[in-house]
Amino acid sequence: PFGERSSLLDGLNPQQREAVTYRGPALLILAGAGSGKTRVLTHRIAGLLAAREAWPSQILAITFTNKAAAEMRERIAGIVGQASDGMWVSTFHSACVRILRREAEAFGFTSSFTIYDSADSKALVRRIVKQSEADVLGFTVGGVQSRISKLKNELIDPDGFARQSNASDPRDAMFLEMYRRYVRELQRANAFDFDDLIGQTVWLFRAFPDIAAKYQRRFRHVLVDEYQDTNHAQYALIRELTRGVEPQHVPADTRMEVDATGGIPGASLTVVGDSDQSIYAFRGADIRNITEFERDFPSARVIMLEQNYRSTGNILDAANAVIRNNFDRHDKKLWSADGPGTKITGFTGYSGHDEAQFVADEIHALHDSGVSFRDMAVFYRTNAQTRALEEILIRSAVPYRLIGGTKFYERAEIKDLLAYLMTTANPADELSTRRILNSPKRGLGPATETALWDYAQKHDVTFREAMRRASELGFGPKATRSITELAKLLDEASAALQPQPGGGPGATVGETVQRLVQGSAYLEALMKTGNPQDEARAENVEEFVNVAKEYDKTHPDGSLVEFLTEVALVAAADEIDDESGAVSLMTLHTAKGLEYDAVFITGVEEDLLPHRISAGEPGGPAEERRLFYVGITRARKRLYLTLAMSRAQFGETAVAMPSRFLQEIPGELIEWRQSPGDVTSRGGSRPRALNATGAWQGGDGGGRRPVGSEGYGTAGGYSRVTMRPSEASGGAASATPTSGAARGAPKRSWGNAITGAVRDNSGLVLERGDRIRHTDFGEGTVRAILGSEAKRIAEVDFDSAGRKKLLIKLAPIEKV
Ligand code: ATP
Ligand code: MG
Repeated sequence: PFGERSSLLDGLNPQQREAVTYRGPALLILAGAGSGKTRVLTHRIAGLLAAREAWPSQILAITFTNKAAAEMRERIAGIVGQASDGMWVSTFHSACVRILRREAEAFGFTSSFTIYDSADSKALVRRIVKQSEADVLGFTVGGVQSRISKLKNELIDPDGFARQSNASDPRDAMFLEMYRRYVRELQRANAFDFDDLIGQTVWLFRAFPDIAAKYQRRFRHVLVDEYQDTNHAQYALIRELTRGVEPQHVPADTRMEVDATGGIPGASLTVVGDSDQSIYAFRGADIRNITEFERDFPSARVIMLEQNYRSTGNILDAANAVIRNNFDRHDKKLWSADGPGTKITGFTGYSGHDEAQFVADEIHALHDSGVSFRDMAVFYRTNAQTRALEEILIRSAVPYRLIGGTKFYERAEIKDLLAYLMTTANPADELSTRRILNSPKRGLGPATETALWDYAQKHDVTFREAMRRASELGFGPKATRSITELAKLLDEASAALQPQPGGGPGATVGETVQRLVQGSAYLEALMKTGNPQDEARAENVEEFVNVAKEYDKTHPDGSLVEFLTEVALVAAADEIDDESGAVSLMTLHTAKGLEYDAVFITGVEEDLLPHRISAGEPGGPAEERRLFYVGITRARKRLYLTLAMSRAQFGETAVAMPSRFLQEIPGELIEWRQSPGDVTSRGGSRPRALNATGAWQGGDGGGRRPVGSEGYGTAGGYSRVTMRPSEASGGAASATPTSGAARGAPKRSWGNAITGAVRDNSGLVLERGDRIRHTDFGEGTVRAILGSEAKRIAEVDFDSAGRKKLLIKLAPIEKV
């Protein structure tokens, strides 16, 4: 029967084949990283389509990111060679938005509801905490937000919380009041937060069985990737979707197979996951969803995959050795048919900058040996680590892309514009309206805002309506005019979205943005200040106008609501652009599911990895270990583990200790490199390495320890010591190691020019053959000039530091 789709099974191992061809109500594929789980899922869908066992519209596949969804869709189309229109391949959130947009009217929302991202909900929580004066009881905005989020992920609404909490506890009572208020405010604003997208869909299905039946009839095959990171609400959603259809909801003329009761049996469910890669417990991911799958689906077939096709032997051995230290897990040993490959490279820098310089140099070396930039990635535990990395990568002319972090859409000015658009699409959206009330500055302070809000509450009208009636509120003439004008601008923009009386179409997204930017004088206000930061903001605003115009072109039938939905759902990993030819920088969390030829895991230090916030959390260190495991298993051929001896973090420069996880990797798998500082002192070279217990060890017989090493035994003693200011020698940027660690090391301050004033060498003209001097690398000869204008790059052969690429504009160089 698989003749016509033999290519589907070609090259798959027997377990993978079984996973692709098994037919039954439930299938669980449990397997380690790189064993082909995602590939099997893709082939399974392609197999169903190719054999015409399912229409594309009967398939719902859930991936972890929108990017993964796009990739899977493309692969499937590639295999079956047919349009797969109607197939839903998306994240949980996108699938739920689609369902809610269609069904919202059933329960008191309109289909143009706003989606609040995490920053939006934080703003709302902040206001509620303030109004409730809850800080007196020790509540923090972040604490309340994450508690609400956790409850929602557990599908516990305020009434549910009231039942399980202690009414006489003032803290519980206060929290309950805030939670209720939060839910009410969202509803008033016709808005859902991220957690609601899932939770409200579950609620919708439970409250309206006929709506649920529509989707249960439609989706006959539900497949979920990265199942280990689903939370309870997502699990409940899967259960609702795969429940059978009750006889009363089966249409008389159905062409579907009905069972003995006259109902339709539940959809077939396939989930794939790896409990060793569960890294979202802090967002409510529930590893029990895997362990209890077999209980909930007693007839489920379980298939294990053990062969890893991604990484070379050494990388895999390291991954296995690390994860083995988590107890409470099924030991599954991954093996690879590839040879051991290159050893893992370890590197210890003096400082974060030193570490970053190594990464940059190594990236160039790999690139010179034929690895393209897009096949390399640098991972870190916290976003705070990126600053040093970025500075060095820029100076070393490494093209890179920051995945996550402060993204374009999270910038204040862009959020302002989005707020303008949201309130235009959804006039009930109070939070957005309030955000832009005084942005740009219109002389409308908090007192005016409060007065409008009070009025809206008292008269039970929307904030926007209160604005329209500003003249009744007794403001001064100037404020009254500002408010009325803004209300008019927004009302006109809302009205323009509708099809026009003469029969013309409604305003496009580009037109709407333009109308609002001009009408509000937002751009003008930024350009007037003469502040360079505002100039950058103005550029972003212009960029956003372009994004909107571009959207008009690519989506001729697109609506403002669709545009806003797309923006709200851009997940961090979706920004990855494979064509860009740039190294990807991202947190370890973002790295899940991805793979690269060469991977750098930076900051492999105590307090960073494992992160110090994990210490107090039950299961925290084990989750950090899984995170490290996820990072290691992204690498195909080359893995680098780097750390620094001192690091500026949490506002202080501190001695860093090697991560306990490093000791879990057998020593023979890692080859430790010297610090660049040591390279230049060749001769009396002191190779730096970690001994078996993780203490620093010099090549001259040991005894070389980090700053303040007294008190650090060779085993344990993992903690961070704060440097005295005098020792920190001017802060992070010039973290020349002091005392014991520095003895014998060259007196060179890595990165001394980095945090100083921004250099601008734009005017420097260089040619091949010119001699230059670099503050860190000394003298050298220019070998070639690449690129143009601000991106001119000099390739220089330094007399002692070897070949480097430098961005001329920023590099600390001068002609000799
Ligand atoms: P992760 O847990 O990291 O998400 P995974 O189990 O989903 O990993 P895949 O991404 O599906 O693994 O596969 C890892 C790599 O191995 C991919 O490049 C995939 O194309 C390749 N691969 C999987 N199975 C085979 C096979 N039978 N033959 C050749 N290559 C394979
Ligand atoms: Mg995968």
